Amino acid sequence: MSCYYCEKPATGMEHVPPQSFFIKGQRDGLISVPSCDVHNQQKSKDDEYVRAVLLSSAKLDGKEQLAPLFEVHLRALNRAGEQIPGRLKSEEDFQKFLEIAEKFKDDHAAGMKSFSELAQAGIGTGLLGLLSVDYRDEVIFDNDGNEQQTISYAFDTKRFNNFFKSMAKGLFFHESDWAWLGKVVLLPHSFLREEASEDEKFISKHYSSQLVRDDAKGEHKDVFYYDVGTELDSSGKEILRYVVNFCLYDTFEFTALLESKYFVASPEPR
Ligand SMILES: [Zn+2]
Repeated sequence: MSCYYCEKPATGMEHVPPQSFFIKGQRDGLISVPSCDVHNQQKSKDDEYVRAVLLSSAKLDGKEQLAPLFEVHLRALNRAGEQIPGRLKSEEDFQKFLEIAEKFKDDHAAGMKSFSELAQAGIGTGLLGLLSVDYRDEVIFDNDGNEQQTISYAFDTKRFNNFFKSMAKGLFFHESDWAWLGKVVLLPHSFLREEASEDEKFISKHYSSQLVRDDAKGEHKDVFYYDVGTELDSSGKEILRYVVNFCLYDTFEFTALLESKYFVASPEPR
């Protein structure tokens, strides 16, 4: 078996999406693909990061079916918090730490803000400082129209997008038995930049409307569903591109476009 990503000999299997994205006890029927050491390890470092970005989003507020995942997420935050004292290398770090703790003691988003400020002060907080490099306060409205205080923050977009590009390759492999060695164009519909052009918005809408929950594949649709389709040229004979659509937590929608012109044929059949 060869790796879904690079076609080197596979050394194990990896879940797409990662197992940790699903609720414990609801992990039957998950998709897995063969993977080499490099592409297994590289990705597992990103799994927790991306899961934390998604689960920190205010867009998931009120999704009770995800409660067990929020618990896991909060435990990860707390663990990161508990590790911080061990990372304070000097008296100066310690003072900064106390100052930040005091500043946010009554804040609704104290955890994330503290991680952010610690990271900015050069105090390593591991994963979660990265998560929250540049935050700002925001007010959103919940389903009942009540104001909710929240924060939004910039995150490592490249790392985030690469994670989902790998995921699209994994889904493509699962459906076709081909490793996609070419380029992947990712449309992260739920994270479209505000300054996106009209064209970008139109394309995003076009593809995001193609994914229909009821028709999509996936054993646990509260967490994940997807479909893989093709777009043909005007003669209806040639495949122009493969379209991998997926949705996480019933909220975050993505499309990955695999253009036929970037298709790289396997050197040998599987
Ligand atoms: Zn590989």
